[in-house]
Amino acid sequence: MELFQDIRGHEDIKKYFKKAIQTDKISHSYIFEGPKGVGKKMMAMSLAKALLCQGEDRPCGKCKACTLVEAGTHPDIIKVDKDTRTTKIDTIREQVVKNMDIKPYQGPYKIIIVTEADTVTIEGQNAMLKTIEEPPSYGMIILITENLAKLLPTIKSRCIQLRFNPLNQTQIMEYLQGYPISEVQKEIYAQFAEGSIGTAKKLIEDEDFLEERKTSINYLLELQKADLMQMYNIQKSICEDKEFISSLLEFWLLWYRDLAILKATGEGNLYYLDYKTHLLDMASKLTYNTIDRHIKLIKDATMQINQNIYPTFVIENLLLKIKERKK
Ligand SMILES: [Zn+2]
Repeated sequence: MELFQDIRGHEDIKKYFKKAIQTDKISHSYIFEGPKGVGKKMMAMSLAKALLCQGEDRPCGKCKACTLVEAGTHPDIIKVDKDTRTTKIDTIREQVVKNMDIKPYQGPYKIIIVTEADTVTIEGQNAMLKTIEEPPSYGMIILITENLAKLLPTIKSRCIQLRFNPLNQTQIMEYLQGYPISEVQKEIYAQFAEGSIGTAKKLIEDEDFLEERKTSINYLLELQKADLMQMYNIQKSICEDKEFISSLLEFWLLWYRDLAILKATGEGNLYYLDYKTHLLDMASKLTYNTIDRHIKLIKDATMQINQNIYPTFVIENLLLKIKERKK
């Protein structure tokens, strides 16, 4: 089994760890930084597996250690998750500091993975500073974070920082090949995933996603042809499901983003590639200024909805302004 074979992308980081393992130059403390769902946790677990494997060709995937890591029950891997919104100092003392003092039960390493290190309180970070600074010879700590700025400089300077970038479209498409869905759907999911396999997975599991996307765009297309009476019907219909309004506005914003791209370049990765005829038609009818103005209107409406302004009022206002013809 090749090391990291199940992880998409991040070739430089894989190369670094392969070499570090070969030459036995693994560090005691790492920070894995990057957006959600790009493979940080997977990389940490794969690395742990390679380090704890008792077989010849690490990770062998067959030995007891490999089996335990895969089952998530290896006693020498400690995953520290946040408490509610933060990771409290008591959790850090209990799960990081204390655990690190206990020698590994089976393997050569004790590996502690803090899954959302940016949620560790300042007190918590200070509490684990010593563990990071003077780790036991068997100790390894991996801090995973989406927000490096939340970590204390003293923590950052004592760890090797590895940056995980968003994946590209091709890498996400490769991942999606495993799903029994049409090519067009794969492309849609890949686009909406925005570089994150985690997001792609979530969208596929979300049964309502494609339907909500379609409903949102249908409203927008109907609106183009609607007279005032029909416009009020559309508004009524949208406001029947207040929970849905924020998503609808997001879908609309991406539609206008597609319009802007098409108008400027005539091509590009589209969120609505299955509506290309409609997009091209609308792009030819709207000026750059109008597209910009509509984008701003949708952003304003989103802000007002977030500020709990009465949705019926916000949507009515938005639809009227979108229908308004301005030079
Ligand atoms: Zn093994």
